[in-house]
Amino acid sequence: MAGEAVLSISGVEKSYGRIKALRGVDLTVHAGEVVALLGPNGAGKSTLLQILTGLFSPDEGKVEVLGHDLRRNAIVALSGIGVVFQQPTLDLELTVVHNLLFHTDLHGLDRKTARERIRIALDRFHLADRQKERVRVLSGGNRRRVELARSLLHEPRILLMDEPTAGLDPASRRDLLEDIRRLRNERQLGVLWTTHLIDEAESADRIVVLHRGLILFSGTREELMAKAGKDSVRESFLSLTGMESVGEEETVNLHEPAEASA
Ligand code: ATP
Repeated sequence: MAGEAVLSISGVEKSYGRIKALRGVDLTVHAGEVVALLGPNGAGKSTLLQILTGLFSPDEGKVEVLGHDLRRNAIVALSGIGVVFQQPTLDLELTVVHNLLFHTDLHGLDRKTARERIRIALDRFHLADRQKERVRVLSGGNRRRVELARSLLHEPRILLMDEPTAGLDPASRRDLLEDIRRLRNERQLGVLWTTHLIDEAESADRIVVLHRGLILFSGTREELMAKAGKDSVRESFLSLTGMESVGEEETVNLHEPAEASA
């Protein structure tokens, strides 16, 4: 069951010159909820994430993290957010553990606390035996795991992920999504992750469809199909957005394994 609101977005608008990238976006993410922000290229997903991470301000509207206004109380609000960006942001020449220590230093954690949290995170993400290796030698899937581990070291309540499975093979995609679901369950983390992949969005607790800067739908996959009167999420998405087709992706079962759905 989803808990308190950890992220509230209301009336957010953003233009680049004459291009309206976001046109009045309202969205709430609750503790213990995985929300997929589904939209085709150019929908405004990256723009929204850049606003949520404080990289730039919206023209209109408001963002609150655990009730803290991102504009007026940026440091407190941002400390509640963990981020995995679309482009990898690890230093390839540093070891895994030094990349993690860099993050804890940035967040002002003392070294004793940092070392303990890093030890737990390395165990948690099966990276303990890789900790002294330079990131350059790790596979794409392991690099993503390091980024995920890093994003959680300051114990955020909401995790933002921008197309986190981009460039991963099907097995690594599945592992990453499984990790996210486990985190949701273990920590009551709220997760907002952007994707243009329909099969990936289907595995979320809630799907939010963003198209040309507007939110067209927010609800479960069943509610989406009921609203569109279609029997697949793909057909529903096409019907809702008026698009004729959407890129076919590798067919891979990304859904929660039956035995894990407690
Ligand atoms: P993608 O997955 O392709 O990145 P997206 O859903 O993340 O797509 P955005 O990158 O947020 O969408 O782009 C939304 C709209 O804003 C698009 O029309 C895009 O061309 C435009 N846009 C994005 N960044 C800029 C920029 N820096 N300057 C001008 N226009 C921009």
